[in-house]
Amino acid sequence: MGSVPERETVVADEAVQSQKGKAVVDVKRLSCPEVGEHVTAYLDDELADDARRALEEHTRGCADCTRHIAQFRATIAAMRDLPATSLSPVTRDRLLSAFRAARRR
Ligand SMILES: [Zn+2]
Repeated sequence: MGSVPERETVVADEAVQSQKGKAVVDVKRLSCPEVGEHVTAYLDDELADDARRALEEHTRGCADCTRHIAQFRATIAAMRDLPATSLSPVTRDRLLSAFRAARRR
C-alpha cells in the first residue's frame, strides 16, 4: 500500500460568501436576537415562508448567526440521539433558553 495524502476536513461554511456589496433592501430585516428567537421554529420547519426567507437572508450576511444555527442544529441532533426518557421537555427547553441567553449576553 502506498501512502495516502492526508486531507484536512473542511468545515462547511455555507452562508459566508455573499458579501459583494449587493444592495439588498429587505423590509423585514431581522436583527441577530430576532434570528435567535426564530431559530428553533426555523429548524423545526415551522416558520412561515417569508419569515424563513428573511431569516436566511440575514444569516447569509451574518457569520455569527450562521454559526449559531449550526450549533443549534448539532445540539438538537445530539438530543435526538438520546433516549427519550433521559431528556424531559423541560430540560430541552432550558437548554434552548440557555442558548438564547448566551446570544444576548
Ligand atoms: Zn446575525
